[in-house]
Order: sequence, then C-alpha cells, then structure tokens
Amino acid sequence: MTTISTEVLVIGGGATGAGVAWDAALRGFDVVLVDRADLAEGTSGRFHGLLHSGGRYVVKDPVAADECVAENAILRRVIPDCIEDTGGLFVTTPDDDPAYGDRFLEGCRRAGLPTEEIAVGEALRMEPRLNPRIRRAFTVPDASIDAWKTVWSLARGAAQHGARVLTYHSVVGLHKDGDTVTGARVRNELSGEELDIEAGFTLNASGAWAAQIVKMAGIEGIGVIPGKGIMIAMNHRLVNTVINRCTMPADGDILVPIRTVSVIGTTDIRSADPDELPVTQEEVDQMLDDGERLVPGLRDARALRVWAGVRPLWQDEHAGQQAADTRDVSRTHAVVDHSERDGTRGLLTMSGGKLTTLRLMAEDLVDAMCRQQGDERSCRTADVRPPGNEDGELYSLSSRLRRREATQHQEQVICECELIGRAKLEDTIRRRGTQNLDDIRRSLRLGMGPCQGGFCIYRATGILHGVGRLDGAEATASLTSFLQERWKGMWPILYGDQLRQARLDDWIFQGLLGVQHMPPGGGDGVGDAREDEQVEAPGEEAVA
Ligand SMILES: Cc1cc2nc3c(=O)[nH]c(=O)nc-3n(C[C@H](O)[C@H](O)[C@H](O)COP(=O)(O)OP(=O)(O)OC[C@H]3O[C@@H](n4cnc5c(N)ncnc54)[C@H](O)[C@@H]3O)c2cc1C
Repeated sequence: MTTISTEVLVIGGGATGAGVAWDAALRGFDVVLVDRADLAEGTSGRFHGLLHSGGRYVVKDPVAADECVAENAILRRVIPDCIEDTGGLFVTTPDDDPAYGDRFLEGCRRAGLPTEEIAVGEALRMEPRLNPRIRRAFTVPDASIDAWKTVWSLARGAAQHGARVLTYHSVVGLHKDGDTVTGARVRNELSGEELDIEAGFTLNASGAWAAQIVKMAGIEGIGVIPGKGIMIAMNHRLVNTVINRCTMPADGDILVPIRTVSVIGTTDIRSADPDELPVTQEEVDQMLDDGERLVPGLRDARALRVWAGVRPLWQDEHAGQQAADTRDVSRTHAVVDHSERDGTRGLLTMSGGKLTTLRLMAEDLVDAMCRQQGDERSCRTADVRPPGNEDGELYSLSSRLRRREATQHQEQVICECELIGRAKLEDTIRRRGTQNLDDIRRSLRLGMGPCQGGFCIYRATGILHGVGRLDGAEATASLTSFLQERWKGMWPILYGDQLRQARLDDWIFQGLLGVQHMPPGGGDGVGDAREDEQVEAPGEEAVA
C-alpha cells in the first residue's frame, strides 16, 4: 500500500473543495485534493448556472443575500473569465403580488444591492420574449457562471502552488489516532488500488455527501439535508438576461441564459440519498408550466435535456432548528467544528452555501483550520486571480466564434453545436490524459448542443482512439458510456424536435454505425487518466 503525506487533505472536488484547495495552497499549505469522480461531477456540475446578485434572498434570507452581494462583486474581479455579465431582471408576473416588489426594493436597499425599477415596456424591449403581462420589473447584477471552468481554474491554481489533485479517488475510510482524524484511505476508482493519505488536517468539502464522510470517523447526525432540484436546458438563449420571478423563492422561477442555452429551474425536494435523484414526469411538466409564466411559449421551444442536482443544505439536528420544507432552510453556510461538536479533532466540515459563495466558504473553512492549529495565515483569494483569469476580462458569448473565425479555413470542426475544432479537442484529450468522453464534455461542452452528441461524438471517439491510442474495445466502451449518459437526460423530455433528433441519432448510431454490434468494451468507459496530468486539464475553454 502506497502512503503519501500532506498538511491538508481536502475531500470533494466541487466548487467548495476546489476553492478550499486554492485558498489553502495560496496560504502556503501542502494540499491534497481528492474526488471520487471527475472535478465538478457532483452538484457543482449540475447546478443552475446563476451567479446570484442576492436579489433572490433579500426578503427571506438576508444573511444569504448579504453574502451573495459581496461575493458576486469579488468573483467578477478574481474569476472574470468564468462569468458572463448577463445582468438580471426580477419581474412581477400576473400570478405574483405586485406589493412584493416594494419589500424586494427595501431588501435590496438594506443589503446594498444595486437595483432599479424600470418600466415594463423597457423590460420588454430588453427581453422581447418576456411575458407581456408582467406588471413590474427590477434590474439586478445577476450573471451566469461556468462551474466547470471555475472549478478547474481553482484546481489548476492550487496545483501551481504545489497541491496534488487526485480525481477518481474515493475516500473509503478515515484514519484516527485516538480522537484525532489523521488522514484517509482512498481507492483509485480506475485501477482499484488503495492509497493511504496521512494528513495533518482533513477538510470535508464533500457537499451533500458530507454526512457519509464524517460517519467514517464515527460521527452521526450531522445535519446536512440533501435538497434535490431539477433543471431543463432549452436549446438556445430564449433570453439574454437572467429572469427571476419577483416573489418568495419558489419552483421554476428562474431562467438563466448560459453559454448557448437557457436553463429553467428549479425544484427543491428533500432527498433520502444524494446518489438517487430520479426525475419524474410531473416535475418536468411543472417546470415547463412554471417557465411559461416567465416566457410564454417556453413549452413549444425545444427542450434539450433535464438533470437533477442535490443541495447540501445545513440544518444541524444538534441545534434543534428544523424546517419541514427544504425551501425554508437558509442558503447560508456553516463550518461544522467536529472538535467542539463531537470531540473529534483534525476534521472540519463545510455545509450549506451556494456556488456563488464558494470563495467565502473556503475562506471560513481554512480560517477555522488555521485557528485550531494556532497557525494564522491570511486569506488571499479575494485578490489573487487563478489561471485563465489573468487579463481581468469577463467572458463573452462570442469569444469562441471569434476564435474559430480566425482559423475556419484551416481547421476541421468536430462539434458544430459548440464550435469545437479538432486541434482544441486533441489538445484537451492530451492534457486531460483521459479516455472518458464525459470528462472531455465537461471540459469543452462536447456533445452538449441540440444534437446531444448525435453528430459529433463518433468523430470525437475516432480522435480519442487516435490520440489516446485506445484499442477498439476501449473506444467502444467510451462511446457507449457517453451515449448512455446523454440518454438519461433526454428521455424524460422527449417531445417535438428533440424527439425527432433522438430518432435521427438512433438511426445514425444503431442503423448506420451498428453500435450495438461493435466489439464489447472492457471496463465501464472510464479511462485510466494519469494522476500527474489531470490538473493540467481544461485550460481556458472549460465550460458548463
Ligand atoms: C438544483 C440546484 C441548482 C442550484 N443552482 C445554483 C445557482 O444557480 N447558483 C448558485 O450559486 N448555487 C446553486 N446551487 C447550489 C450549488 O450548486 C451548491 O451549493 C454547490 O455546487 C455545492 O458545491 P460543493 O463543492 O459543496 O458540492 P459538490 O459540487 O457536490 O462537491 C462535492 C464533491 O464531493 C465528492 N465526493 C462525495 N463523496 C466522496 C468520497 N467518498 N470521496 C471523495 N469525494 C467524494 C463528490 O464527487 C463531489 O464532487 C444549486 C444547487 C442545486 C441542487
């Protein structure tokens, strides 16, 4: 059994864990970050895409609102390349009480959130697809944020400061010496090998899985409630501004334009198991109906895909604060001090929060560790830009097209929906050192457009085969695994044009290429990415 040592072990490679690794590495700690899967394959890669202005919480959850107001401004400064400044509108639909708008304005004023009430006609000129029957409209500095780009940028930054990032490494046990956690045993999910990590301190940033991790240290009853939400991606930008209903947070009340699509969401249902997130027909219907309130005709637009994510909501049973409805649980975060709470030292858990507040959450967690260790070091993440963000420019939707236009006559396009050229794809495959097309999808948006991989994925598989030197069986495994993943998100919303697309894709893969009759692949389609290459991954093109 191999053993490695580190000062800080971070469990979970979502937004929080990557933020924690970046923060701790910037403070000069030796860090190991582990995730059981690819980075941002948990909730962070399955969220709604909104960099909150705070407007959603100004009436109901003022602490969360204050945190969002501050962090929205900081993230624009330090990770601009991950953020598109779409702006946001809160609109009063015919189903909403116009008087809520006054409470909203008052809440914004209290939180220092810049907002302005504009005439309905002006809102409709900004967003012609908006419900013409809206009664009030308010501007806010909402934006869309690319989670994959964010997480990889932070992880690459941490790696540049010496952190080791081990993806596809699951924590299977925590080591204890008396009442102190001293590290973890992890299993490499690709090779099956186990590894011991000796750690001076362990930071649990495993989101909705946090309770599973602390249970390995004999700690029960930690109040992380998994709150499931579904979202549906529509095939283009029905709006270019984030549209929120101006009412108490409810289901299906936000439409976020992100990259080439717009996403309607979300629900909020207590979930028993963060790995079991079935999507029901009722939820899909409800989401589409809710979307109609904001943008009439949304139901007739082409829905590409539906997926679910799970919030790590914080409601400590020890504190006795119980909310029956997960919507009533605050969106703030909490550092769970296991030494104080459970008599277990060397371990802290981060719970709750939002992707928008990832930096603050990381700062609070690393500050708490420093305090416990009596080794105070200042946080620098509000001032230092991680890789890819150096020029300080906010992301612009047209940037990919601009780059393609420069080389359009020389380079083969592999994914037309997302404008991915062959060179970029080959480069990403090499840098990620992966055989898994889904890893490439998270880096480049490969196969995320209207055809859902129908036209690009067999070409990409051929290139992966060439570049990755996979044998036929491995290439088949990678292809079928990708198609199965896409199918999971497509079948619950198969109607209209997307149903036709699915039939066409089926003819291509079954009829023309005979995918079913290709030699069976070994393994599960997950490639044997080399540890030392993983963190070099997506570069400036990683997207959500
Ligand atoms: C439906 C929905 C919509 C949302 N929309 C927004 C939004 O628009 N804006 C916003 O700011 N926030 C949003 N959020 C909240 C936000 O997405 C989450 O708060 C945030 O992504 C949580 O990040 P995390 O890193 O804590 O968790 P995760 O991203 O889930 O990361 C935890 C990681 O731990 C890993 N892990 C689990 N078990 C193990 C193990 N045994 N060993 C190793 N690793 C392990 C998982 O693989 C995972 O990658 C939304 C949440 C949901 C559910």
